[in-house]
This record gives sequence, C-alpha cells and structure tokens, in this order.
Amino acid sequence: MGDAAGLTDPFSGEGIYYALKSAELAAETVIESLSYTGRMEKYTEKILENFHKELSSGAIISKLVYNFPHLVHKTVRKNPEIAEMLFKAAGGEESYSGLLKEVKKIPLLKLGLGHHK
Ligand SMILES: Cc1cc2nc3c(=O)[nH]c(=O)nc-3n(C[C@H](O)[C@H](O)[C@H](O)COP(=O)(O)OP(=O)(O)OC[C@H]3O[C@@H](n4cnc5c(N)ncnc54)[C@H](O)[C@@H]3O)c2cc1C
Repeated sequence: MGDAAGLTDPFSGEGIYYALKSAELAAETVIESLSYTGRMEKYTEKILENFHKELSSGAIISKLVYNFPHLVHKTVRKNPEIAEMLFKAAGGEESYSGLLKEVKKIPLLKLGLGHHK
C-alpha cells in the first residue's frame, strides 16, 4: 500500500490520499477475508479498480509535461483550459483520465504522446 506499492500521483508526487485509501482497502479486504467467501487477492483487484486508470493517465500526463515542456507551454497558451484542467487534476478536482481525453484532441500534444492510444 501507499508509497511501497507505487501509489503516488505521478505528476505532483502526492501520496497521502493514496496511502490512506489503500490502507482502508487493505483493512476492508482483511475483514472480508475472515468470511468464507473472502480472499486477499481481492485487494489487488480493488487497487486496480480504484487507482489504475487515474494513475496510468497521470503517468502519461506527467511524461508529457516533464519531457516536452516547450510543446506543452506552446499548447496551453493556445488552449488555456488545458492548463486549468491540469491544475485541477493535480489538486484532485479533475481526473487525469478526463484531462488526457482532452489532450488527445490537440494535434500538437498528440505528437508528444508517441504511441499511446
Ligand atoms: C518532501 C516530501 C513532501 C511531500 N509532500 C506531500 C504533500 O504535500 N502531499 C502529499 O499527499 N504527499 C506528499 N508527499 C508524499 C507522502 O509523504 C507519501 O506519499 C506518503 O507519506 C506515503 O505514505 P506511506 O504510509 O505509504 O509511507 P511513509 O509515510 O513513508 O511510511 C512508511 C513508514 O514505514 C517505516 N518503515 C520503513 N521500513 C520499515 C521497516 N523495515 N520496519 C518498520 N518500519 C519501517 C518508515 O520509517 C515510515 O515511517 C511528500 C513526500 C516528501 C518526501
């Protein structure tokens, strides 16, 4: 769980929320596993279900921002709403997956995304 499981926001580096949420999911799974139908493998499923989409989208956004700052700067000057979405995503008010969806519509940023779908 937490940092040990690599559960940190790839763009901002924040991990307190993920540490607490993954600890809650672990505790919940331990309690469930005490019943006949419960199993600890469920924890991995819950982690993937809760975090995979967001953290993998965040990782793509992070690579784009840190590897191609000039490209991103040029693009957000033309599309200020993207910068706003990025700040909101880093603050947890917006999703990285939603941001990524918007980013993929912008031809310039698509270049920096390489082979990602
Ligand atoms: C400088 C800095 C600033 C940060 N700022 C923010 C922020 O503003 N917001 C945010 O959300 N996140 C921030 N983070 C990230 C956040 O601190 C971590 O993501 C979060 O603390 C992870 O919690 P954790 O419980 O997984 O790990 P930790 O908080 O690292 O806890 C792990 C604990 O296990 C102990 N430990 C390790 N090995 C052993 C062992 N063998 N036996 C016993 N105990 C052991 C460690 O001493 C530690 O106390 C920051 C991180 C850093 C470094």
